[in-house]
Amino acid sequence: MKNVMLAAMALCATTAAMAFPDKPLTIVVPFAAGGPTDKVARDFAEALRKPLNGATIVIENVGGAGGTLGAAKVAKAAPDGYTLLLYHIGMSTSPALYRNLPYKTLDDFEYLGMINEVPMTLIGRSTLPANNFAELRKWLDANKGKINLANAGLGAASHLCGLLFQQSMGIDMTTVPYKGTAPAMTDLLGGQVDLMCDQTTNTTSQIESGKVKGFAVSTNKRLTTPALKNLPTLDESGLKGFNVSIWHGLYAPKGTPKAVQDQLNAAMRAALKDPDFIKREEALGAVIITDGRLAGTEHKKFVESEINKWGPAIKAAGQYAD
Ligand code: ASP
Repeated sequence: MKNVMLAAMALCATTAAMAFPDKPLTIVVPFAAGGPTDKVARDFAEALRKPLNGATIVIENVGGAGGTLGAAKVAKAAPDGYTLLLYHIGMSTSPALYRNLPYKTLDDFEYLGMINEVPMTLIGRSTLPANNFAELRKWLDANKGKINLANAGLGAASHLCGLLFQQSMGIDMTTVPYKGTAPAMTDLLGGQVDLMCDQTTNTTSQIESGKVKGFAVSTNKRLTTPALKNLPTLDESGLKGFNVSIWHGLYAPKGTPKAVQDQLNAAMRAALKDPDFIKREEALGAVIITDGRLAGTEHKKFVESEINKWGPAIKAAGQYAD
């Protein structure tokens, strides 16, 4: 009897996977539309459609609390592969930042694989009276107590990068949280805030057009992207050891059938080889993952190692939210 039931269950799982997807999928982006995570998700969704037999993929922006509201929504969604989460490094920084995170990072999701790594840039409003990092440093020293630094909330990449920047400079700034760095960028363009640290996927064209000033990159190597290649690293600008790169991965609610996970993983691997997607990513300074972290198991191990890497630094900085 037990064997018959097991065979029936296996058949159901196989049939479900064979029929998958037979309706639109939703990818939850835990930040506002128009920002860097949203941009990666929309480009990636376009590339994912083909290997998923032309399925419609809807992007749902659930911004707020550094991405944790969107992640919580997916943790509670039906585990059928139709609701997915595309989240960045915040997946591993939020456990240290939030006392009452509404989900368990390592237990409540199936890890489907990683997508890319994206450097960050330190940018400022175009009206700042500084044109390079040395001048910015002088301006920051002269304006202590008056500097506004935008971010996408506690746990966001912009928060993390801004936190390390303040620590390295030894200057406290007033942080202004938004639901994503797209609305933060609007205020930076309008001159309502002074500075922001954000992914190149959001900043490259703004730096190129001169609408914001680019001061430095967050990685310890200069970038090759034409619009960014003249920006110094923060490390070479005197902030020794500064090296931050943001990564993105895809997640499904815990309990999503293994056959569906495998199908999604295979589609991801195909999407990451899509020449249009590769071209767009390269133009924005992003680097597509090609190593073992394409596998869900390695993706999960990497997130675990990132939790262990960032947790102590965040706790030492005394940054918490409920
Ligand atoms: N760049 C944002 C961050 O700071 C997220 C976003 O708006 O995509 O994490």
